[in-house]
Amino acid sequence: MRRIFPVIAALVLTACSGPATPTTAPAATSTLSFAAIVTEAAALPTESASPVPSTPTIAQPIDPFAANFITLPVPVCNGLTPEQTEGPYYTPNTPERTLLFEPGMSGERLIVVGYVLDSNCQPIPNAWLDFWQADANGVYDNSGYILRGHQFADEQGRYFLETVLPGEYPGRTEHIHVKLQAPNGQIHTSQLYFPNAAGNTPDGIFDPALIVTMEERQGYYVAYFNFVIAP
Ligand code: FE
Repeated sequence: MRRIFPVIAALVLTACSGPATPTTAPAATSTLSFAAIVTEAAALPTESASPVPSTPTIAQPIDPFAANFITLPVPVCNGLTPEQTEGPYYTPNTPERTLLFEPGMSGERLIVVGYVLDSNCQPIPNAWLDFWQADANGVYDNSGYILRGHQFADEQGRYFLETVLPGEYPGRTEHIHVKLQAPNGQIHTSQLYFPNAAGNTPDGIFDPALIVTMEERQGYYVAYFNFVIAP
């Protein structure tokens, strides 16, 4: 035991003492005087040195209703919007857009507007709407997305569609197809019709509850229709 003790003591002393000198130099900033720090701070750019923009640089979104002098009447609900057949010409995965009219497209310009409402007649913000229709000659684009597009109702539950009046095709009066869905709700399918169309009555699918209210303007029409959907 007496021979082992000095060895253990030496090991313990070595382990506890650590290195005799620091392995790295002290940070340079630790040697700066207060005056030097103040001088350096004064040299830094300050907020007041940056130009302050006098006008907002973010463009405000244009409200299509205000831009087109459209004020929606206070909605009145008379039951749910009738469901209608999807028909043979629906194409899923449409582009998101409110403008279906394209340059060079024939037909009378048409704006369709209204609310998407729930069964309590309350607006449904962000409701999904998917529109598709025939062109003015009654022809669908079944290989692309002409006159097809989906959109989401705004925070007031309003939708805005800019298109052309659809034409008749054999067996069908003028109509616009639509699918609707409240956020996390089920999909509803229906169609819109136009007042006083000669083909309405002979059309077995036509439903007078789905006739839009038309307003004729200089060179175009505004059609009003409120959708009322159950969740
Ligand atoms: Fe159709």
